Amino acid sequence: MKSLVTGGAGFIGSHTVDALLALGHEVVVIDNLSTGRPQNLDHQKGNPKLSVHVADIAEAEEIEGLFEGVDWVFHLAALADIVPSIQHPRAYYRSNVDGTFNVLEASRAAGVKRLVYAASSSCYGIPDAYPTPETAEVRPEYPYALTKWLGEELVMHWHKIYGFPATSTRFFNVYGPRSRTSGTYGAVFGVFLAQKLNHKPYTVVGDGTQTRDFTYVTDIANAIITAAGNDAAIGQRMNVGSGGTYSINRLVELLGGEITYIPKRPGEPDCTYADTSKINSLLGWEPKVSFEDGVANMLAHIDYWREAPLWDPNSIAEATKDWFKYLGKEG
Ligand code: UDP
Repeated sequence: MKSLVTGGAGFIGSHTVDALLALGHEVVVIDNLSTGRPQNLDHQKGNPKLSVHVADIAEAEEIEGLFEGVDWVFHLAALADIVPSIQHPRAYYRSNVDGTFNVLEASRAAGVKRLVYAASSSCYGIPDAYPTPETAEVRPEYPYALTKWLGEELVMHWHKIYGFPATSTRFFNVYGPRSRTSGTYGAVFGVFLAQKLNHKPYTVVGDGTQTRDFTYVTDIANAIITAAGNDAAIGQRMNVGSGGTYSINRLVELLGGEITYIPKRPGEPDCTYADTSKINSLLGWEPKVSFEDGVANMLAHIDYWREAPLWDPNSIAEATKDWFKYLGKEG
């Protein structure tokens, strides 16, 4: 079997590459290294079954030749994070929408047997129902969420029009070792682990009672590989979650340390919680890593965050200015 992973040097991508190599697949990685890090694949260096191509999915001609003979495509390359998506919507559209278009066309031309798209639970915005089923209304709250949703619509349209064998999997708050560390203010784990390493208080948003469906990255990798291998997944949009929802206060309790409070951000849900009954009944998939074990494993790999930026209430207020400016207005 030959699999291709876009974004394979990124956080979720590198774990997916590990899982595929462990299954004996030949693996082709496409990554432009804009947020992916080659170090995420360092431990696979010299593996004859792995080839890494530094190429941009937004440039069709850079990637076309790489899909030859590929069985499964995992399309994980994308720009993430909320604030930069508000500041640079064109870059997000280019990577997440044009890039997805190019990956679909290259995959279709090469006759790949399956494509699994990494969609985002942010498409639900602030949902009406918890746990949230796939049938919930789509309400993107910022350009990142919108562009990931548009990518999902492309993928599903290719299935409808061309019979292209695609699946869209909607991830809920993925965490785990190698979660991206860049200059951007982003996902809570990177922020808190850098604060822990520097003996600084955790910047808890609001009162910390809000909850997230924190899903461990190896469970995500396992879910998308399961989806690729099962015909029942073709043409489906499926949530992938942990089966629970955990408060920020609980996370702080597990990490241990002091707290400082920062204001609640506009447009953010008080809860994310996937209804995973669809993927469970269609594919028999279920998550394996408990929140407690996942957090313990993050702590075991905490050195990864030594070079991560250290955030405090002031630098967060500065970094999230545009968030409050554009999403905080009435109506
Ligand atoms: N959060 C926090 N402090 C931070 C960053 C995030 O308390 O410095 C909280 C945030 O309010 C949310 C959760 O952590 O409830 C997850 O935030 P993240 O930005 O990782 O994901 P998202 O809000 O997009 O689900």
